Amino acid sequence: MAFNFAHRQTLRSTIRRVSPTVYPNCAARSLLPVSKQWNGKWAAGYATVASEQEVPQGRYWAKIPRWEELPVDTFLSHSWQMANSIHTVRGLSDLMRSVLPETIPPQQPLRGKLEYPGVSTPEDFIRSFEVAAKKAPMAFRLSPHVLSVINWTDPLNDPVRRQFVPLDSVINVAHPAGIFDPLHEVDNSPVRGVIHRYSNKALFMATSICPVYCRFCFRSYSVGTETEAVKKMRFLPLMKQWAPKFEYIESTPSLHDIVISGGDTYLLEPEQIAYLGDRLLNTPHIKRFRFATKGLGVSPSRLIDPKDSWIDTVIELSKRGRKMGKEVCVHTHINNKQEISWITRQGAQRLYEEGVIVRNQSVLLNGVNNTFDQLRDLVHALSELHIEPYYVYQGDIVRGAEDLRTPLSDSHELELQIRDQTAGFLIPRFVYDVPGPAGKRPSLSAQNYDRRLGVAEFTAPRLNGDYVKYWDPLWSLSEDAQEEVQSYFAERSNDQASAQMASVGA
Ligand code: SF4
Repeated sequence: MAFNFAHRQTLRSTIRRVSPTVYPNCAARSLLPVSKQWNGKWAAGYATVASEQEVPQGRYWAKIPRWEELPVDTFLSHSWQMANSIHTVRGLSDLMRSVLPETIPPQQPLRGKLEYPGVSTPEDFIRSFEVAAKKAPMAFRLSPHVLSVINWTDPLNDPVRRQFVPLDSVINVAHPAGIFDPLHEVDNSPVRGVIHRYSNKALFMATSICPVYCRFCFRSYSVGTETEAVKKMRFLPLMKQWAPKFEYIESTPSLHDIVISGGDTYLLEPEQIAYLGDRLLNTPHIKRFRFATKGLGVSPSRLIDPKDSWIDTVIELSKRGRKMGKEVCVHTHINNKQEISWITRQGAQRLYEEGVIVRNQSVLLNGVNNTFDQLRDLVHALSELHIEPYYVYQGDIVRGAEDLRTPLSDSHELELQIRDQTAGFLIPRFVYDVPGPAGKRPSLSAQNYDRRLGVAEFTAPRLNGDYVKYWDPLWSLSEDAQEEVQSYFAERSNDQASAQMASVGA
């Protein structure tokens, strides 16, 4: 990584000069700004990439016909990214009509199973999506970056498409234990929008919106716009609505650690980030806080957009926190190496240069990252970005994403396989976030794991000897076992069955 010291205006005019029509493979790639304005001063350094090999994806958005000629600096604009995100059925269907191949390649079976019978043409694919969109509990929204890293020539097998675009055949499958708030967050909220499940840590829900909506989100009871299937508990990103949350945090001295989340803090304004950071830095008992965002993986342009100061604000808070002996960091969420582009790399490099700690929290997802090769590649890619591969979560039993869950045995096997692949401090912790006060427990700490029925038990000191069950996805069980699990729940009412699955004492 070399440095090129230049004035902003010179830089921006240079980007315009190096237009994509002149350099169609990767326009202006070596002159992208990663330092921006903060408090009226321009930082002088601009990180550069040394060679074309470092940005093999180039203008990766140009494969979308409507963005074929789009200049680099337009794609790097956060406001352009937001304005061109797609969140309507019609909008996504239109885009898919322009990118899907005449014949959709068949799905490679996942453990011998095919999920999408009868989808072989663009019309089949779009029809399946349009039906699924009506049933899905999670709204959908895709950023231009995500739309550009999906491999539309093979959409049935694509690990990014699987996370964001539902199809009808899989949305119909539901585990009887599936609920909308599988972590019982609402029950553990002393004030609306503060989730207090740990003795010294709480989560501050600053907003309900995200740059993308993930099908597997365990917070679908709140996150995203309302769907035909679900009414949401909304948290508007308004400072005046944060007052009761701050009152609780500031009057609870046992709290040392705050996760600012939602929703995604990436969609807060820099002034809001600064306000949140100021309040928490000035609360004596708060020693650490982090901004939770998928931005690095799903809309990385904001990190190197010279007109935007979100990242500068986080960097300034991190530096101020260090001087005060407090940790201010970023927790991100990347699930597959394919989500990472050269823009992500430059954004991560900027954070690394500026000393901001970044940790990644993946969810183990079927067909996305639950093979050894996929997970190893992700861990290595994150390590190269100096992002700690912090957690790999067992997927929560949420409705509408049963096809994406994996059996607990995947987590067990992958943890053992990944161990000799990298340095110890880069090995992720494989965990299941047990509902209620128990918190995250190592996946390998499961007890009484009946692999035939796909049910395991977890306990924790704060459960006082009680156990919580985790149920593997139905697709991973034999037909006999599926019937037994369905009968087990059918013998109880839905409420009892859900409680049996997830509550203390089950
Ligand atoms: S970005 Fe996070 S909060 Fe938003 S939908 Fe995805 S998992 Fe949920």
